[in-house]
Amino acid sequence: MAPEVKYTKLFIDNEWVDAKSGKTFDTYNPHDGSVIAKVAEGDKADIDLAVAAAKRAFHRNSEWRQLDASQRGEILRKFSDLVERDWQYLAELESYNNGMVISLAKALKVAVNIIRYIASCADKIKGDTIAADGEVFSYTLRQPVGVSGIILPWNFPIYIFVNKVCTALAAGCTVVVKPAEQTPLTALALVALMAEAGVPKGVVNVVNGFGPGAGTALTHHVDVAKISFTGSVEVGKLIQQAAGTNNLKRITLELGGKSPLVVMNDADLNIAVPIAANAVFAHQGQVCVAASRLFVQSGIYDKFVEAAVKHAKGIKVGNPADPTSQNGPQIDGEIMSKVLGYIEKGKKEGAKLVCGGNRIGTTGYYVEPTVFADVTDEMTIAKEEIFGPVQSILKFDTLEEVIDRANDTSYGLSAGIITTNVNNALQFAKHVESGIVRVNTYMGGGPQSPFGGFKDSGIGRENGMDALLAYTEVKNVVISLPKKV
Ligand code: NAD
Repeated sequence: MAPEVKYTKLFIDNEWVDAKSGKTFDTYNPHDGSVIAKVAEGDKADIDLAVAAAKRAFHRNSEWRQLDASQRGEILRKFSDLVERDWQYLAELESYNNGMVISLAKALKVAVNIIRYIASCADKIKGDTIAADGEVFSYTLRQPVGVSGIILPWNFPIYIFVNKVCTALAAGCTVVVKPAEQTPLTALALVALMAEAGVPKGVVNVVNGFGPGAGTALTHHVDVAKISFTGSVEVGKLIQQAAGTNNLKRITLELGGKSPLVVMNDADLNIAVPIAANAVFAHQGQVCVAASRLFVQSGIYDKFVEAAVKHAKGIKVGNPADPTSQNGPQIDGEIMSKVLGYIEKGKKEGAKLVCGGNRIGTTGYYVEPTVFADVTDEMTIAKEEIFGPVQSILKFDTLEEVIDRANDTSYGLSAGIITTNVNNALQFAKHVESGIVRVNTYMGGGPQSPFGGFKDSGIGRENGMDALLAYTEVKNVVISLPKKV
C-alpha cells in the first residue's frame, strides 16, 4: 500500500501555507509515472516571506539565539529520536517519491546517526586565544553566519536534508530549504518532525518550487548570508555567480563527478567485481560519487569484464516497493532519456556493449544495468557524468599511466583503488586529484569524514567539524590591558 502523504504545503514560520500565487505542481511516482500529489509551488514572494521569518528567528533576542549551544544539540537529538520513530514511514515515502529501492531507503537509517553526530558537535564549536603583539588580550569567537539557503537535489532527499539542515542548526543558523522539484515530500515530513522536536518558529522554513523561481530568489536574496547546494556543476556555477550579485554569500557546493575506480592486477576478482558494480549501479547510478570510469589493469582485464557482465546480469531490477528489488527506476523520463542517449553515444563512438543497454518495459523509467568494455578516454561516456546504471570499463597498463588518466578530467569528487599492494594504494591516494579516496572499498566514511570535491566537483566540505565551521564567521576581539605590573 502506498504511504500516506500528510504534507503538501509550504512550511514558513512554523505554519503550513499555500503559495502566495496559489500555484501547485504535480509530484510523481517514478515506478509508473503516476501523480502522487499536488504540492504548493513557491516562488520569489514565498522565498521573501521565508527569509523574513528566518531573519526574525536569527535576531539576537530570538528564542533560538537565546538557547545555549548544548540546548540546540538537545533539540537535534530529539529530532533524531523522532526520525528513528518514524523511519519505516519516511523510508517508504522516500522510495515512493524517488524510486529508491526500499531496501536502500531503509538502510539509509544511518541518517539517524548523522543527526546524533551533528547534535553532539553543537557545543564543540570554539574560538582561540591569540599570542598577539602588545599588551592586549586577543581572542576569537565563532558565530553563526546567519540565514542560510539550502538547495537540495533529488537523489538522496532525506540524507542530504538532515545533513545540511542539522549542520546549519548546530552552528546556530536559521534556514530556508528549497527541495528538488522531483522529490518534495520527505522534506515536508522531516520539517514537521523538526517542529515536533521543538525547533522554534522561523528557524527552519521549507519552500518547494523550481530552480528558476524559488531557487534563484533564494540565491539572490540580500538577507541570505550563505548558500549550501548539492546538485549539478552547471547549476553550481550559476549559484556561485548569484552569490556575488546582491551581497557576498558564503557558499558550499557539492557537485557532480566522473570518478575513477582502479583495479590492479593483484586484486582478488571476487572482491573487486562486486565493489565496482555497487560503486556504479547502486541507486541506478544516481549517486554523485558513482565510479563511472572503471580502470582495469591489462593482466586481469578479460577475466574482469566477463565477471562484471555476469554480476550486472544478476542485478534484480523492479518495483522499488518490492523488498527483493536491487535497482529501481531512474527519477523521471528526462533523466531516463538522457541515460539512454549516453548509451547510444557509447555504441556509436565504438565502445563494446557487453551487457544491457535498453529501457525495461514501457511504463516507469527503468534502464537495464549496462556494461561497456573497451572504453577509451576520449569517448563521451568516459568524459561526461551519466548519472545512470552504466559501467564503463577502460584498460590500462601501469600505475603511473592510470593516475594521469584518472586526473584528466575537470571533476575531482571521489576515487578508489583495489589492490593488495600498499605501495600502489599510497601512491594512488597521494597523486589522484580527488576530495575522497577509498582503498579496497568504495563507500563509507560516516558523518565524521569530510566529503566534497576538488576542481569542478565543488567548494567546501560536508560532514565533520569542517562542515559545521563553514556555517560560522570568525570574530576577533582585542582588549587593551593595563601596562605590565
Ligand atoms: P540540479 O543541479 O539540476 O538541481 C539541484 C537543485 O538546484 C534543485 O533543487 C533545483 O531546483 C535547483 N536549481 C536548479 N536551477 C537553479 C538555479 N538557477 N538557481 C538555484 N537553484 C536551482 O541537480 P539534480 O538534477 O537535482 O541532481 C543531480 C546532480 O547533482 C548530479 O550532477 C550529481 O552529481 C549532483 N550531486 C552531487 C552530490 C555531491 O554531494 N557532490 C550529491 C548528489 C548529487
